[in-house]
Amino acid sequence: MQVDYIIVGLGLAGLAFTKELEKNKKSYLVFEDYSQNSSIVAGGIYNPVVLKRFTPVWNASEQLEIALPFYEDLEIQFNKKYHFPIAIYRIFKSVEEQNNWFAACDNPGLSKYMSTKLINEKHEGVLADFGYGKLSNTGRIDTKTLLEDYRDYLLNRELIRNESFQYSELKIIENGLEYKDIKASKIVFCEGFGLKNNPYFNELPMQEAKGELITIHAPNLNVDFLIKSALFVLPLGDNLYKIGATFNWKDKTQLPTEEGKNELTTKLGSFINVPYKIVEHIAGIRPTVKDRRPLVGKHSKYPNLAVLNGLGTRGVMIAPTVAKALYNHLENGIELEKEISIARFL
Ligand SMILES: Cc1cc2nc3c(=O)[nH]c(=O)nc-3n(C[C@H](O)[C@H](O)[C@H](O)COP(=O)(O)OP(=O)(O)OC[C@H]3O[C@@H](n4cnc5c(N)ncnc54)[C@H](O)[C@@H]3O)c2cc1C
Repeated sequence: MQVDYIIVGLGLAGLAFTKELEKNKKSYLVFEDYSQNSSIVAGGIYNPVVLKRFTPVWNASEQLEIALPFYEDLEIQFNKKYHFPIAIYRIFKSVEEQNNWFAACDNPGLSKYMSTKLINEKHEGVLADFGYGKLSNTGRIDTKTLLEDYRDYLLNRELIRNESFQYSELKIIENGLEYKDIKASKIVFCEGFGLKNNPYFNELPMQEAKGELITIHAPNLNVDFLIKSALFVLPLGDNLYKIGATFNWKDKTQLPTEEGKNELTTKLGSFINVPYKIVEHIAGIRPTVKDRRPLVGKHSKYPNLAVLNGLGTRGVMIAPTVAKALYNHLENGIELEKEISIARFL
């Protein structure tokens, strides 16, 4: 079998890169072993404002200009809804926070997202004595359904093998590579935290951050916006809300823990006081990088090997932009921005 590209891993990074390949009529084969599930468990939220400090997220507006049409195209391709715009209400904890919010509204990069009105609505079960600041042009992508549909689509076209990629079987030959029965021109590694097992790129400084989430059933909580306080509370419909997420820099497993659940319920109790039942508890590992920027580029010695990783906490917004940048770098020789290029660590 001969293809232009082998892709290892089909999370958000792998999906975005294969879409670039399809657009450019390149052939490819994906390997996916279900060893990581960051993109499957993700809240899927996109939000261009850092809600701790009220500052703009790095390159967010530019990324959204590429990301939103990208997900809309997928909605058309599969005739299904994956994109759910939703406003975010940030609970203020003090008058000082209110003041900081209104000062930030003057920032030209933030004014199209942040409302200058103090929201003082009362909502049963939500403790918000100092009111809320409202963000618009924000939303959620249902990454789980999208990836399930995309994996099925690839399976039906025999473009994916549900097996683990064995690094020791990869042979680098002149002008390309061989892997078992396949000859390819290039390979792109999109393994998320699985990068740790990749002998070609595992020296890159990934700082994995485990996250846990719960879904609750709360019939008395009647909100149709995303609440952000110590955690996010994301309405899913049918009285279900996704609550997240924890950050754990030590535990490298993907297993939900009692400790994670206790942290979530304690924090939730600080701003929500309605009865609820936990119906799901999940966990995954965010592929985060020391400097909070993606890991994109070619291997320093083997230019047919490339990496697309380090999407961190914002894979939904970043993935389409960095996939496009990597494609243009590999096929058209366009330099990568210094901030995302792995050259910064070599
Ligand atoms: C709890 C939690 C909440 C999050 N919430 C949000 C959010 O609200 N918004 C947002 O934008 N981001 C969020 N994120 C971050 C987001 O999920 C990540 O940025 C993104 O999913 C990373 O995508 P990826 O494709 O790089 O990695 P992954 O999703 O981990 O995909 C890598 C894939 O590679 C496969 N793989 C690995 N090694 C091999 C191998 N050797 N052979 C074959 N296959 C292999 C894995 O099985 C996996 O499918 C969250 C993450 C977590 C954990």
